[in-house]
Amino acid sequence: MTSADGSNDAPCLSVALPVPLPRLFDYRPPPGVAIPARAVGCRVRVPFGPRELVGVVAAVGTPAHGSDGLRDAVAWLDDQPLLAGELLDSLRWLTRYLHAPLGEVLATALPASLRRGEALPDTRTWGWTLTAAGTAALAGMRDGKPRALAALLDGAVPDEAALDDRMPGWRAAARTLAARGQAERVATAGRPGPAPVAGPPPNTAQQAAIDAIADARGFHAFLLDGVTGSGKTEVYLQAIAQALARGRQALALVPEIGLTPQTLARFRERLGVPVHALHSGLNDSERAQVWAAALRGEARVVVGTRSAVFVPLPDAGLIVVDEEHDGSYKQQDGIRYHARDLALVRAQALGVPVVLGSATPSLETLHNARSGRYTALRLPQRAGAARPPVVRVLDVRKRGLQAGLSGEVLDAIANTVATGGQVLVFRNRRGYAPVLLCHDCGWSAQCTRCSIPEQGRPMTVHAGGRRLQCHHCGHRQPAPMACPACASLALQPQGVGTERLEEHLVQAFPDVPVVRIDRGSTQRRDGIERALAGLGDRAGILIGTQMLAKGHDLAGLALVAVVGIDEGLFSADFRAPEKLAQLLIQVAGRAGRGARSGEVLLQTHHPGHPLLGTLLQGGYAAFAEAELLQREVAGFPPFAHLALLRAEAAHVELPREFLREAVAVMARLDAQGAVELQGPLPAPMPRRAGFHRAQLVLSCASRRPLHALLDRAMPELHALPAARRVRWSLDVDPVDL
Ligand code: ADP
Ligand code: ZN
Ligand code: ZN
Repeated sequence: MTSADGSNDAPCLSVALPVPLPRLFDYRPPPGVAIPARAVGCRVRVPFGPRELVGVVAAVGTPAHGSDGLRDAVAWLDDQPLLAGELLDSLRWLTRYLHAPLGEVLATALPASLRRGEALPDTRTWGWTLTAAGTAALAGMRDGKPRALAALLDGAVPDEAALDDRMPGWRAAARTLAARGQAERVATAGRPGPAPVAGPPPNTAQQAAIDAIADARGFHAFLLDGVTGSGKTEVYLQAIAQALARGRQALALVPEIGLTPQTLARFRERLGVPVHALHSGLNDSERAQVWAAALRGEARVVVGTRSAVFVPLPDAGLIVVDEEHDGSYKQQDGIRYHARDLALVRAQALGVPVVLGSATPSLETLHNARSGRYTALRLPQRAGAARPPVVRVLDVRKRGLQAGLSGEVLDAIANTVATGGQVLVFRNRRGYAPVLLCHDCGWSAQCTRCSIPEQGRPMTVHAGGRRLQCHHCGHRQPAPMACPACASLALQPQGVGTERLEEHLVQAFPDVPVVRIDRGSTQRRDGIERALAGLGDRAGILIGTQMLAKGHDLAGLALVAVVGIDEGLFSADFRAPEKLAQLLIQVAGRAGRGARSGEVLLQTHHPGHPLLGTLLQGGYAAFAEAELLQREVAGFPPFAHLALLRAEAAHVELPREFLREAVAVMARLDAQGAVELQGPLPAPMPRRAGFHRAQLVLSCASRRPLHALLDRAMPELHALPAARRVRWSLDVDPVDL
């Protein structure tokens, strides 16, 4: 076959398609389309089997075997590349690092509507003005809406948002004027924002941090290590303002939980330029708008959660990663990237400073700071007048508990609300109770889709005991009236979740508001804000999971009571101590941020646990020091590099079979045994939502041999027949093992 113009040497497009195959696909250009000079990074629509897919052109060349037999692309979608320069380079790097298909990585980087092939949205601000004919006609117009609008437009170009404010119903009038040729829609520069509001003058430590960031030439990684409330956000704001003053863009990443309306309002007020927000609460078209505005350089400040790390930054000046230790930066399915780590790679490629901020830095980041790869900047004290909270450990062994609360905790709550203060009762377990147990025969409710014979998965009791829900697969069912095993009626919810705490505290404190905040009570993004606003600064009790541990500025909190942390002290996950220490410090940091000093009570059955001792006596730094030592001895990250091969299938044997074959492939390719292989092992949840799951851990003291092995092994794994009978994936730098 020859191409439409009869020649046989039309260029060949190598297209990255969003399919789980580690290769590109070749097509001829769409017939009759002139390819732009900058073709790489443009999207094309192509036939793929019986379907059509949108892909990104990764290369243009002459096909090795001629273009005979290649299919024609269906449509060329962009006249300018969407992915180019640094961003495309960084995405190619990510592809190699994750050993993932380029097409899937590029699709992950694009907002959904662009992935589907929709046009890059218009990001201009539109306004209206009179034409010369309109100006001439104004004096003679009859009274009515068109005349009123014409008067507004006379000598001015108000934008559409301003017209919405000033004249309800203006759109119909505008259509009338436009039809008569008297008014027209034009792109405007948009309204200037309100003048920026000055922040508090920086203290010495803040100033030193701001200066260090401003003095950085080109790429430089900083760790901004500052206790909660020490003024890290002030440092980010000043550093961003300096980048803006140099005519550069800034990107600030915040954790899923931290991007609150409060945070955004603070950025907007302080920077005096539009701040573009990117988070899961936006619809597809809003997300594409922000992405396009960043690509065109119109967005000067982008604040967003994990996926905002993919925005184009043609004029980059600074990248900030707030709460860099936060787990939400790691994508847990599909392309399993870590936004913090990609932010570092991008900053390096862009030649700009990157600031990682946290009160509880990840051990990886602390290790990098200690080895000199990052410069540590410290804010050792709370800013302003707030003092650190006083922390006490309450030994509750042999004490009577009511809904999991000791008498001392209940007394402290009573005293605090009696003096007008607010209390947070922190329990990281939502629902009414973690288990429904038969008191007569010992039966307990297990999720049938997640349990395996020897090892159950209790369903959580909800709705005061009426409903059961699996927190792993989401399965729900009504709670049985009688025990399915022995027909006894003695079914009892065991343990305490946030709903049960709420029930008890409402009874115990009938005169003060009790507000529960967790994923069950607060579905909507602004739900927390509204619940907190409803409480105001009255005396009251908040009950919350980790949704409340971060982000929200709860100025009035005088007491934080932490209950039910003991299960976290004895987890098999090597990262559990780090996560627990971070959570405790973050929760404690909620107390006493306002004028009133704060107290934190930690209720535990293990008051002598070394984690609590180190944390309380030496703070997070001492804990981290001890924990790094243990990781080094045990050969865990950051002293080793891990990759995890996961497999799952409905049949129990298939995942193990695939992983056994994977082990054989790797053992052959790594004859020296540089990379240690552990497995196949059952996954931490060996069965979930009806699927049996197994895993293989690869670890190596240095990165290079691990990646060299994966480079060679991955194509072979894709080709294994056993691979087609399971769902499998590779997770480089996994965070949960
Ligand atoms: P972080 O981000 O470290 O939690 P923030 O930047 O949010 O800390 O600051 C905590 C509180 O202290 C905020 O209310 C902030 O306005 C205030 N603050 C920060 N820096 C100063 C300063 N130099 N002087 C007075 N108040 C400050
Ligand atoms: Zn029973
Ligand atoms: Zn389940």
